[in-house]
Amino acid sequence: MIITDTHTHLYSEAFDADRDEMIQRAIAAGVERFFIPAIDSSYTQAMLELEHSYPDRMYLMAGLHPTHVKENFEEELAHVEANLQQRRYYAIGEIGIDLYWDRKFLKQQQQAFKRQIQLAKNHGLPIVIHCREAFDEVFEILESEKGDDLFGIFHCFTGTLEQARQAVSYGMKLGIGGVLTFKNGKIDQFLNQISLDSIVLETDAPYLAPTPYRGKRNESAYLVKVLEKISEVYGLSEKDVALKTTANATEIFRI
Ligand SMILES: [Zn+2]
Repeated sequence: MIITDTHTHLYSEAFDADRDEMIQRAIAAGVERFFIPAIDSSYTQAMLELEHSYPDRMYLMAGLHPTHVKENFEEELAHVEANLQQRRYYAIGEIGIDLYWDRKFLKQQQQAFKRQIQLAKNHGLPIVIHCREAFDEVFEILESEKGDDLFGIFHCFTGTLEQARQAVSYGMKLGIGGVLTFKNGKIDQFLNQISLDSIVLETDAPYLAPTPYRGKRNESAYLVKVLEKISEVYGLSEKDVALKTTANATEIFRI
């Protein structure tokens, strides 16, 4: 049984003290494949080193995270483009719009999101979307970009059933993580109305640790807690959910 973590920041400073042990704990728990979203150019080197240490387990993405879209976003996008020319990346992510922290760069965030979707289309790659307090703004752009060449993952999905259906209609799978296990998380109430074909698992480590680790540093080994909860929500065995969600990830990232 292979469990796939489709979104984990294993290169984060939060793991500097025990990165290898932490990755070994995940592998021992059955989490054997890791998809690594980018944030900005300052992390590229650390991502490459991570891949170098675990070449058959790490799958890197290229992209500019919406909370890192600032005045210099053109330079950052040029870095993403240059990376894509050099070697294979498995997705453009994480990209999108985040209005929780700051609305100041909304225009730039919209531009960067759109440009990176184009980049994904040109390279035949999936996108990995980060959306925080910005469903309308994200959906507006997806609506204008929809088509056979638009596909990917709506990472850390925390919206309503209607928003889940809308995301799926744009060719997105829903990245489900620790929030599903929270008492007030809400998505456990309706998630089984979305086909398991549209679900992938993720931790977003080091953030959003599932219950009973809520509030602590998250790590990929804790993905088994998300797997457990999804099995409960769908009334399926953990093995079946692991198989299906790993197959879904394999399909999107084309590995
Ligand atoms: Zn993330």
